Amino acid sequence: MRRGPLAEPDIQTQLETYTVSELTSTGKLEALMEQLEPTVETNPFEAMVSRFNIAAEKLKLDQGLYEVLIAPDREITVSLPVHMDDGRLKVFKGYRVQHNMARGPAKGGIRYAPDVNLDEVRALAAWMTWKCAVVNIPFGGAKGGIVCDPKKLSLSELERVTRRYTASLIDIIGPERDVPAPDINTDERVMAWIMDTYSMHVRHTVTAVVTGKPIDLGGSLGRREATGRGCMIVCDRAISRFGMKRENTRVIIQGCGNVGSMAARFLYEAGYRIIGVSDINGGIYNPLGINISRMMTHCQDAKTVVGFPDAEPISGAEILEQPCDILLPAATENQITSQNADRIQAKIICEGANGPTTAQADDILYNKKIFIIPDILANAGGVTVSYFEWVQDRQGLFWNLRTVNDQLEEIMVNSFDTVASYADRHNVNMRIAAYMLAIDRVAFTTRERGIYA
Ligand code: NAD
Repeated sequence: MRRGPLAEPDIQTQLETYTVSELTSTGKLEALMEQLEPTVETNPFEAMVSRFNIAAEKLKLDQGLYEVLIAPDREITVSLPVHMDDGRLKVFKGYRVQHNMARGPAKGGIRYAPDVNLDEVRALAAWMTWKCAVVNIPFGGAKGGIVCDPKKLSLSELERVTRRYTASLIDIIGPERDVPAPDINTDERVMAWIMDTYSMHVRHTVTAVVTGKPIDLGGSLGRREATGRGCMIVCDRAISRFGMKRENTRVIIQGCGNVGSMAARFLYEAGYRIIGVSDINGGIYNPLGINISRMMTHCQDAKTVVGFPDAEPISGAEILEQPCDILLPAATENQITSQNADRIQAKIICEGANGPTTAQADDILYNKKIFIIPDILANAGGVTVSYFEWVQDRQGLFWNLRTVNDQLEEIMVNSFDTVASYADRHNVNMRIAAYMLAIDRVAFTTRERGIYA
């Protein structure tokens, strides 16, 4: 293929057109990579820090405590040598960041994705600290990830990567130390492998080392649905605050994985009108409402929402900008940024994903009077039922589904109401109120423990 001059404007095209050696020899590779680096706006850790700073200032947090709370307790990078099915030896990179453990063992998911990086894991770990504090459960925050594309790995390769990662972290995870859970591209099966590997090393079965396990291995009823159910509970609180009715409330959901699909199901069953859903392949839109049961059947076969016959196709970017009452991003970070925030036409944003809105977008949305249910509150249903799972595993006594769901509802309703009244009292938005509440709780425990004297 004939190669054109390197002065082409489109970075992606240049990266796809030229080989690495061509780019390196012409000195362009570094410059292009720099342009692809996340900007300050889309760096998740910066996004966390900017909200933390506003909340800390309002709380008049002293400098020493500020430094204790913002710095991750521990960051670990591991290299995971794994035999691939074709006999090659490949080394994967893995991370675990434990942000803060003042209130209890660290808690947080593990994600598998090609673009996982330390800043992202660091931000997600901190968000877990604040999230656990917002819903007042006795955990600190952690997060982990492995740089890999699970779609390109066989099941046995995925299992070997998971087991090696677990073995590498054996000294720092455990029911009293750090309890992982599923996140993007990890599921019950991955949790079962972690539980088994950990148990092999400590030579007895330890179910409470992870949550989000299969029910037969010590998982909790209701865990799989918990994050989506929690989103529905906080949406209910938000619409009742504005005197809205479920049946007149139009919802658009981005992402149709665990969180998005469960949120869609519960909101639909509760009577909300779901007018749009998207996933990584594209979106579907029907202003009259989508039959979510039928959409789920389509997804099971097609493995995507795209192609669902009773709705119009729409791009992933456009769907976010359609008029609706609730926009529920449930995919990944940085979906609502300074680039598209002014075109968002929702009344309420319920953040099912972690970090879907950048700090710069926050200001734009606030000026547009869009009510945001922040991630550290909206998606806390998952960690809440993970906490129930950990409690049940340690007790060896398992709850029925009604108990799980009732307890979840009580915690989500109380947490929403506490954050909302905190926001009203301090004249701040819901996100800053949630951060203030969480930071205040972690700071209080830290002072009480005497870590900070
Ligand atoms: P998942 O892997 O099950 O699903 C992710 C979904 O997002 C998939 O449907 C994928 O196609 C879609 N997606 C990815 N990129 C997209 C894009 N650019 N546009 C549209 N769709 C896109 O992951 P999950 O467990 O549902 O997690 C989703 C988000 O929720 C993440 O931010 C995660 O950290 C957060 N979260 C998950 C839980 C949980 O219990 N699973 C709990 C709290 C928060």
